[in-house]
Amino acid sequence: MILLQISDPEKIPRFWYKIRMFQKSLKKAAEFHGHVCPGLAMGVRVAEFALKDFISGKAEDEEVLCIVENDSCAVDAVQALTGCTFGKGNLLFRDYGKQAYTFIKRPPGNSKKGEAVRISVIWVSPEETVREKEMWKRYMEGDHAAEVLEAVHQRKSKKIKAMLEASEEDLFTLKRFKTKPPCEARIFQSVACTKCGEKTMETRTKILGGRVLCQPCFEKEMEICKR
Ligand SMILES: [Zn+2]
Ligand SMILES: [Zn+2]
Repeated sequence: MILLQISDPEKIPRFWYKIRMFQKSLKKAAEFHGHVCPGLAMGVRVAEFALKDFISGKAEDEEVLCIVENDSCAVDAVQALTGCTFGKGNLLFRDYGKQAYTFIKRPPGNSKKGEAVRISVIWVSPEETVREKEMWKRYMEGDHAAEVLEAVHQRKSKKIKAMLEASEEDLFTLKRFKTKPPCEARIFQSVACTKCGEKTMETRTKILGGRVLCQPCFEKEMEICKR
């Protein structure tokens, strides 16, 4: 992780102050995620942009929701910083494999359309040197020699630094629109699966031959191969 040795924000140029803020957020996101990585850094930039431009602060409840189109490290930064979280139900995952994040403000009453912004990542990471490519190849082949690990670490740090320093225009494209937000998270009753006995949300159960089954038991019975 890159660190700036500047203690007084008042005395540093605005640009460096901004970088310092990003590093603070990166630290916060890393406490949740477990490590610092380029994916997390991108999530920090997305979250910081949303907080600065769209939402007034971390979501306490479901007043804001975020639809993420990937399940990468970046999503953890979005959760840690914006308060759009999986558990609260205001983080919705769409498995499209895209680096796109749509924040939607939920208007009172649920019937109206709310403001939305879709942040789509267009950033291209700095070109790798021949040595970096060679070290990465060795790393992927399972070579964890000290020089390989050091080179991989340096490469990641370079990428993170470039990401934190990049302008918003170089990082993402934006689309602003109005849309009806998905329904708020609901709590349903649980019923016991007649096979394994585990309590299962009733909307997730299946009926087979008159028996109430949970999804895994149903699949076993139907011999459906699932990844
Ligand atoms: Zn990560
Ligand atoms: Zn079951």
